[in-house]
Amino acid sequence: MPKPLGDMSPDEFRAAARRVADLAADYLDRLDAYDVLPRIEPGATRAKLPPQPPSAPEPLSAILDDYRTIVEPFITHWQHPMFMAYFPSVASGPGILGEWLAATLNSNVMLWRNAPSSTELEELVVSWLRQMLGLPEAFDGMLTDTASISSLLSIVAARHAVPGLRIREEGLSGRRLRMYASTEAHSSIEKAAIVAGIGRAGIRRIEVDAEFRMRPEALSAAIAEDRAAGWVPFCVVATLGTTSSTSIDPCEALASVCAQERIWLHVDAAYGGVAAVVPEMRGLFAGWERADSIVVNPHKWMFTPFDASLLLFRDPENFRDAFSLVPEYLKTREAAGVHNFNEYGIQLGRRFRALKLWMQIRWFGVDGIAARLRDHVRLARLFASWVDADPDWERVAPVPLATVCFRYRRGEDPDARNREILDRVNATGRVFLSHTKLDGRFVLRVAIGNPRQTDEHVARCWALLKEAAVT
Ligand code: PLP
Repeated sequence: MPKPLGDMSPDEFRAAARRVADLAADYLDRLDAYDVLPRIEPGATRAKLPPQPPSAPEPLSAILDDYRTIVEPFITHWQHPMFMAYFPSVASGPGILGEWLAATLNSNVMLWRNAPSSTELEELVVSWLRQMLGLPEAFDGMLTDTASISSLLSIVAARHAVPGLRIREEGLSGRRLRMYASTEAHSSIEKAAIVAGIGRAGIRRIEVDAEFRMRPEALSAAIAEDRAAGWVPFCVVATLGTTSSTSIDPCEALASVCAQERIWLHVDAAYGGVAAVVPEMRGLFAGWERADSIVVNPHKWMFTPFDASLLLFRDPENFRDAFSLVPEYLKTREAAGVHNFNEYGIQLGRRFRALKLWMQIRWFGVDGIAARLRDHVRLARLFASWVDADPDWERVAPVPLATVCFRYRRGEDPDARNREILDRVNATGRVFLSHTKLDGRFVLRVAIGNPRQTDEHVARCWALLKEAAVT
């Protein structure tokens, strides 16, 4: 009998896993020694690697050597404490270990039958996160990969909830559905409208106040105008923590408009929502408990390895009704009493995301997570206080969470000057910042949210900015 071809032997795997554990620990230990932005030109990585795949096996040591010299040093280091661009997306130690074990089990969480403990761990983690956010038991939910998908599912469910439309069976067929989001809402909402067949014309942007929050009276007026013009308003998206300035839409007032108009309220709290784990910050989100669906991303500001998005919804039956399609080979005897998660969304095969969250929540404890979030807010306010105290700089938005929007005030063309400052600080490689536009002005952003960040990192960022502004 020929020898089975097989996989890596258990002994080989054990030895390799020890090497990989060392590589991972060394990386996390050495992070601060790296520049956060690598010095690399497009095409440089491809040029170092053979264009054809190897036909013969290669030893693991050669593969790991290439990983160590060609891949690792030339990523942009999202784990780095000087990565302050966009929003944080940081992987904690216990989260990384959970991700590794999830890959080892390779449990595909589509049905309870083929993933019993992983399905129930997902139910448990969804419930834990809901409790951590202070939201009522009326919410059920699941984990998805990203906020973009969580919002898309919610918008399709909202569309499905409109009485008498039968879109699932008959398609949109020229119906004019309208949804509403502020001018500051994330592009994923517009993308969801495109994918869900609502179209860009079907999303109406509502103006914001001086602090970039949706104006509820403008929303009411838009809905009335649309109804009169023959549109069917079906969904409002409130953003709690907008991408540019982290402004928080007035959810209580928006929930009242939705209740009065019988319109679905979807809350995009992808970045900001985790702040509700901090008891004294929960008031920022008043009214979100009245939403029909909510998205909060642990993979943004809760140090969970990418990817993990929490989608909560009030009416699981509506979600199941919108998405469920069970072919014969997936019918199981337990279907009635369990969560078969594939029926609540688009994907059939689903990653086992609950394990890393379960391990991480246990390892830090809810109080430990809250303490870290609270510290990030303190660091952001510290940075904001330096901006406020310096007449050469101005802050351009409030700081309700842990992101600061600001700009340099001097020079004839402040937009060009701030763009130049951004390019300069990023060119040092020692910090990575991003920008946005607020009221049409070019604005710099510092986003805090890495458990490895300290006062020293924030001070280093401020020093680099000031240096870039005067040279
Ligand atoms: N919603 C908001 C408010 C965001 O800021 C972002 C990304 O930054 C998203 C949604 C999209 O998140 P994801 O990458 O998980 O799809």
